Amino acid sequence: MVKLETLISLAKRRGFIFQSSEIYGGLNGCWDFGPLGVELLRNLKEIWWKSMTYREDIEGIDASILMHPKVWEASGHVAQFTDPMIDNKISKARYRADNLIEEYIERLRNKNKTELANEIEAKLSSASKPSDYYDIIVEYKIPDPVSGTTEWTEVRYFNLMFKTFIGAVEDASSVVYLRPETAQGIYVNFKNVLETARQKIPFGIAQIGKAFRNEINTKNFLFRTREFEQMEMQYFVKPGTENEWFDYWMNERYEWYLSLGFKKETLRFKVHEKLAHYANRAVDIEYLFPFGWGEIEGIHSRTDYDLRNHQEYSGKKLEYFDPTTNERYIPYVVETSGGVTRTAMALLCNAYDEDMAPTEKGDLEKRTVLRFDPRFAPIKVAVFPLVNKDGMPELALKIYKDVQKHFKAMYDDSGAIGRRYRRQDEIGTPFCITVDGQSLADNTVTIRDRDTMKQIRINVDNIITYLKDNLII
Ligand code: ATP
Repeated sequence: MVKLETLISLAKRRGFIFQSSEIYGGLNGCWDFGPLGVELLRNLKEIWWKSMTYREDIEGIDASILMHPKVWEASGHVAQFTDPMIDNKISKARYRADNLIEEYIERLRNKNKTELANEIEAKLSSASKPSDYYDIIVEYKIPDPVSGTTEWTEVRYFNLMFKTFIGAVEDASSVVYLRPETAQGIYVNFKNVLETARQKIPFGIAQIGKAFRNEINTKNFLFRTREFEQMEMQYFVKPGTENEWFDYWMNERYEWYLSLGFKKETLRFKVHEKLAHYANRAVDIEYLFPFGWGEIEGIHSRTDYDLRNHQEYSGKKLEYFDPTTNERYIPYVVETSGGVTRTAMALLCNAYDEDMAPTEKGDLEKRTVLRFDPRFAPIKVAVFPLVNKDGMPELALKIYKDVQKHFKAMYDDSGAIGRRYRRQDEIGTPFCITVDGQSLADNTVTIRDRDTMKQIRINVDNIITYLKDNLII
């Protein structure tokens, strides 16, 4: 599996992902998407959006990031969206106490100390107060991975919401939060969508958008950042049917990740033993990242927790009236909550490969290739003139302009042809078209396949049809 450093370096070198505010030394936990990264993100969001909203029972929305502060009181975020935080007195390093313990358990497992690992894990799963985490860290003498010491401060809870102020006066009455999840924008619009889209339960509302969390530790590239993007869908169901819908969405979402090209052995479910305050059932879909298993999507059965609280805090009825049974109830919710940026990173990990490719001299050289499903490839096709003379650039440019009307394309006329192929392989371009001497004589070009590296000749007039047939867009 690819090393994270290799991926970060490729992502930067080729314009997928840059550190935020890099010229100022960077801003921790924030990343910028470059010309290729933004295409990858857009492709992912488009595929998710189509799979979720191009069906009769799900509507899309785009709610604002800033919301009425009461939203976050009703949702429980003001009181409970906290992580346990601990500092090492010697190294001054700060950790999420639960993550510190989890990573220690992982290290014990790697050393086959399974019994001890299980014992600590059992205690961790019932920890809820700051002192519970502290007691585990002290009892098992869990050391700081940086300094190796066990001089710890107490554990405190830290709220992850970013606070800001609306309007000119910075006082308690003007506090607003950057949303830490997109879900609440859906709940507060439940009635609006129900009435305007004339939906009947069961139905869902989907949304893609930015979310912000002041994470205690950011790490592993795009995995845990302070600003990220989510793709969430809240499915409103009749109370009592939530378990069957939960099973349905678990299966749908797993199959969706498989359809993106993730291999079965790199995906797994992790059932939550310890449930969040709003959930009665929860499972994560995890992907095997270079640093180990990590959640890419959470599926949560959220009961009527959110709608009921919003009804109470706002004083507005958020019930559903079932015209067939004349029943009135607050719907239950099954949520699928995925990370766009986290999944984009998983797609990069999944696509990364190295193999041997023939050089122009006929020997073999190592090549890096991103084997993206063509739907994700930032550039679908590249067009090259073999040499910059004899009318080749003119024909190649004409082909490039025609192709660009249908697919994101790139024109490259610099350097040896082998180098140009390598450059496209490294960014995952599925096809390269080369105009050569023969092209001007018989109106044909070569098309090279990224994965097989095989070339075929086709007539210029058939290029668009060929690409449409072979790039399942
Ligand atoms: P964790 O326990 O790892 O902090 P979580 O269980 O709080 O995560 P959810 O609230 O379920 O995460 O968020 C849903 C999805 O949003 C996650 O599966 C992930 O893809 C994405 N996500 C959450 N937090 C972050 C983050 N800090 N950086 C990038 N993506 C994130």
